[in-house]
Amino acid sequence: MPELPEVETVRTRLAPVLVGRRIEKAVILDPRLVRPFDPELVAAELVGERVAAVERRGKYLVVRFESDRVLLIHLRMTGSLRHATTGALADDPHRRAVLSLDNRSDVAYRDVRRFGTWELLEPGELRPYLAQRLGPEPLSGLTAARLGDRLAGRRTSLKAALLDQRTVAGLGNIYADEALWYARLHPLRPAGGLAEAEAVRLLRGVRRALRLGIERQGASLRDYATPDGERGAMQEEFRAYGREGEPCDRCGAPITKTRVAGRGTWYCPRCQA
Ligand SMILES: [Zn+2]
Repeated sequence: MPELPEVETVRTRLAPVLVGRRIEKAVILDPRLVRPFDPELVAAELVGERVAAVERRGKYLVVRFESDRVLLIHLRMTGSLRHATTGALADDPHRRAVLSLDNRSDVAYRDVRRFGTWELLEPGELRPYLAQRLGPEPLSGLTAARLGDRLAGRRTSLKAALLDQRTVAGLGNIYADEALWYARLHPLRPAGGLAEAEAVRLLRGVRRALRLGIERQGASLRDYATPDGERGAMQEEFRAYGREGEPCDRCGAPITKTRVAGRGTWYCPRCQA
């Protein structure tokens, strides 16, 4: 499932090919992508829009148009975007939408599980939409004290709190486990019980995991690929996620798997406390 590093990688690759381009044709093949709106109406609204910027907030891709409207894309579990010269992409039964640009290139959206969403927002709608759903960005501006404040008094586990996008935006199951491993914090610790020094470690761990993910162009376990069709390499860097029974890179104890907040959770039982 794409998390902050995967979406940031997509953003970095798409921005140079999208900015300044005008959408000449839009086809939305799957009504689920834009529901409750009519896919043909949304497609018609996209035609003529020119891209001003491609940004990211949490796990959302924010395509800003010169009209000040925004196409907000969430890849959810299996969404991915490909960019190529018109006609160069092979047929794909999981293709859900195609935007044709004014330089004879296409952006195609693929989604096997079909949980991804495209929302066309009118000027002024983006800020309140995101403010309701997302906490601060972990890689810019957030301090350990502010993170500690956001966790204070919460009875839920640390892992569940990190998965909650309103605590901090952009972490999912992979990077939450990696962040907690770097921070040497147990995923089942009560989120509200962190000492100051532990909140500092947690923020450092979150940043270290996310930065490494961005550096390695994301993790390709199943569906995720960059818009050029390349795989990421973060899966080679996992310290905890998916490593049940393998020795911890720090202390050698076997990594343990459990379930937290309904999600498979990997951690070192010796050095994460
Ligand atoms: Zn360990």
